[in-house]
Amino acid sequence: MGTPATEATATEATDAIDAIVTHHRSCPLCEACCGLEITTKGDQVLRIRGDMNDPYSKGFICPKGSTLKQLHEDPDRLTSPRIRTAEGWKQATWDEAFAEIERRLGPIVEAHGRQALGTVLGNPNTHNLGGQLYVRPVMTAVGSTNAFSASTVDQMPKHVSAGLMWGRPDMFPLPDLDRTDYLLMLGANPYVSNGSLLTAPDMPGRLEAIRERGTFVVVDPRRTKTAENATEHLAIVPGTDSFWLMALINTLFDEGLVDIGRLEPHVSGVDEVREMTAPYTAEVVADRCGISAETTRRIARELAAAPRAAVYARMGAHTVEFGTIASWATDVLNVLTGNLDEPGGIMFNCAPTQNMAPSTPGGRGFTLGRWAGRASGRPEVKGELPAATLAEEITTPGEGAIKGLFVLACNPVRSFPNSDRIDEALQQLDLLVVVDPYVTATARHAHVILPPTSALERSHYDFAFEANMIRSFAKYSPAVFETDAPSEEQILSRLALVIQGKPVDTDPVVVHNQMMEQLVDAEIGRGSSPIHGRDKAEILEALAAWEWSEQIIDFRLRVGQYGDGFGANPDGLTLRKLIDEHPSGADFGPLVPRFPDAIRTVSGTVEIAPQPIVDDMVRFAAHFGAMRLNEDGQASEQLVLIGRRQLKTVNSWMHNVNILIKGKTDCTLQVHPDDASRLGLTNGGSATVQSRVGKVVVPVEITDEVMPGVVCLPHGWGYDAEGIEMHTAKTKPGVNSNVLTDDAALDDLSGNCTLNGIPVEVTAA
Ligand code: SF4
Repeated sequence: MGTPATEATATEATDAIDAIVTHHRSCPLCEACCGLEITTKGDQVLRIRGDMNDPYSKGFICPKGSTLKQLHEDPDRLTSPRIRTAEGWKQATWDEAFAEIERRLGPIVEAHGRQALGTVLGNPNTHNLGGQLYVRPVMTAVGSTNAFSASTVDQMPKHVSAGLMWGRPDMFPLPDLDRTDYLLMLGANPYVSNGSLLTAPDMPGRLEAIRERGTFVVVDPRRTKTAENATEHLAIVPGTDSFWLMALINTLFDEGLVDIGRLEPHVSGVDEVREMTAPYTAEVVADRCGISAETTRRIARELAAAPRAAVYARMGAHTVEFGTIASWATDVLNVLTGNLDEPGGIMFNCAPTQNMAPSTPGGRGFTLGRWAGRASGRPEVKGELPAATLAEEITTPGEGAIKGLFVLACNPVRSFPNSDRIDEALQQLDLLVVVDPYVTATARHAHVILPPTSALERSHYDFAFEANMIRSFAKYSPAVFETDAPSEEQILSRLALVIQGKPVDTDPVVVHNQMMEQLVDAEIGRGSSPIHGRDKAEILEALAAWEWSEQIIDFRLRVGQYGDGFGANPDGLTLRKLIDEHPSGADFGPLVPRFPDAIRTVSGTVEIAPQPIVDDMVRFAAHFGAMRLNEDGQASEQLVLIGRRQLKTVNSWMHNVNILIKGKTDCTLQVHPDDASRLGLTNGGSATVQSRVGKVVVPVEITDEVMPGVVCLPHGWGYDAEGIEMHTAKTKPGVNSNVLTDDAALDDLSGNCTLNGIPVEVTAA
C-alpha cells in the first residue's frame, strides 16, 4: 500500500511506541466528507473531533463522525474470512476463502457460462477508496449483464435526466448553496441526511445562511427538521412532485416568466416543453398535489424574480413512479429561469481531478435500454438492471438464471424492495460471495464472506464525492492504523483473478498494473490532456513511488486541472504536495460555469425535451387522470407510506454502535393525529402495516409532522432475523421497511424503486 499514515501527515509527539499522534482525514460515512481530527496512542483511538483546519467542513461533524472508533473496535466486525460448511461457519484463511470460491464457481461457469453470474454493488463502495477503484475489475471478470446496484434504489432518476439533458449521466446538477438567494428543495432532508448527490459539509449552517440572506422553501409531505428550519414549508401529497413541478413550468410559460439567459443559444426543446406542460396548470394539479394554485403561481414568480435561484430535488421526489420526470422537470425549471450553470444557481463538477481544458460541445449522448433483463424484460440503464428485479433473475428457471452472485458492500435483504423475496432467492444460489465486515441479513446466506479492513486501516480519497462538491476541493486521508490484513484493493483484485479463472495464488497486483496501463494509455490518447502523446513508460516511471490506489490518485491529480502535468506545470499539484502542504485538504475555490463546453448530447445543446421523456408523457397523463379524488375534490383517502432518514444511521448499518441507538426507540410508524383517531391507534401502541407484498408490526408515534393520509417509517432496520451477528443492533431490532416496498412498482424510465407513496393498510395490532 501507499505511504503509511504516520509518515505522511501525522504530528508525532515522540518516537516512543505509545506516542500521541494526531491524524487528519475525511469521514467516509456519508456524502458530506467532513474533515476529522483523530488522536491516537499506540493502537488506541483517544479522540475524534471535527478538523477545524479543514477548509471545506471547518470543524463540522455529526454524531456519526466520532463513532469510527466504535466501528473499528466493534467485536462483531469480522477480521478474517468465513466459509459456510455443513457444520456451520468456519473461520478461514484468505487462501482457503479464495479456494472455496474457485471450487464453487467452476461448475457454475462450466454448466451455465458467465451469464449465470451476477454482481450487486452497495453504496459503501463509493465511500471507500478501494471499492471505488477496484469493483470494476470484478465486474469485468464476471462478464455478465446481471449487474445490480443501490443506484436503482435511490438515484438512477438523476443519472437518467442528466444523461438525457446534457449527455453526462454522472454529472449531477449541484445547487450553489453558498451563493444562491433562493432555494426550492423537494423531498430532501439535508439537516438529517447531510446531503444527497450533493457534498457540502455543514448543511444546517449553509441552509441557515440562505434563509438569512434570502428564501429557502421546502416541499415535503413531512415537516422534517429541514422543513422546520426553512423560510416556508409546503406539504405535498407523496408521489405528486412531478405534477407540481410541471405546474411551475406551466406558470413560467403562462405568465411570460421564461428567461434562459446566457445559455439560450445552447438550449433546445423549449417549445416542446411548453406543449408538454400545457395540461398541468397550477389550478389543475392543486387538489392532487395538495398545494393551492395561488401558492404554486407565487413560487413560480419568486423563482423567476430571484437574482440567483436553484431548484433541488432528491429522494422523496425521485423514488416514486415518475421519479425521472420529477428529476427532469427540476432541471427544466433551472434552465427556464436562467439558473443552470450560473453562480448561485445550479452548477457542475469542477473537481481537481477533472480535465477542464476548453472543448467543443457535443458527444455521443446517452442511450437507455441496450439490453433487457432475461426474466423481468426491464431495460438496462447505465449498464445495470433494476435492483427490484434481482430476485426474479435468480428464481425464474431457465438458461441465464443467476446461480452465482458477488455482493460487494451491499445488504439487499434489507435495502432492496420486497426484501423477503430476495431473502428467499439468495438461498437458492450455488455461490454467494459477500464482501462485508458484518454478518448482515444478506451475509448470513453467503457461502464465503470476505471482510475488508476498518475505515481507520485504509487510506481515502473521495473520487466519487469530489464530483458533487460545491467547491473545487482535494483531500487525501492516510490510513490511521497499519494492518497486516489485505486491503480492499487486494481483496477485490484477487477476487477478480479467481473469477477470471486464474490460479488462486496469482499476485493481485497484476490487476492494478493492468488498470494503470489502461489509465495512462487513455490519457496519452486524449487530445486535451497535458500528457497527450507522451511516452507511457516515462509516465509510469514517474508514478513508481506509489502503489495501488495511491498511484491512481497521484496520476489523476497530476493530469487534473491543477496538476503538474508530469512536468508541463512544475508548480502544479501532486499527491506528495497534497499530503505535505494540505493535510486538511486543498480548497481551490467555488465552482465555475462549464457549459456549453461540457455538454455531451448528440446535438451539442442542453436538450430539455429529450425523446424518452416526451414518450413517457402518455403514461404520465394516464396516471394523472387515474388519481382518484374524493367527494370533496381531495386526493384519495388511501394511506400511503413514505420513508424517513435518521441522523444516527446510514441505510442498513451504524445500528451496531451503542451510542447511536441508545435511548427511545427510533423505528416507529409516524401517523397524523386525525388518522390515528380514525384508525384507533394509540401513541406507543402497535400497528400492523400491510402493503401488496408484505406486513410488519411496528410501534406507533402519533405526530402532526406527517400530513394526514401519510404514514412514515425509517429504513435500514430489522435485526431480529436468525443468523445476523450484530449483537448491539439486535437489542433494538426494529422492522424492515423494505418488507413493504413493492418490487413491481418502478419508475419505468430509470428502473428505480418506488420507496415513497406506497399504498398501505394500517390497523391497530
Ligand atoms: S455528516 Fe457525514 S461525513 Fe460528516 S461526520 Fe457525519 S457521517 Fe461523517
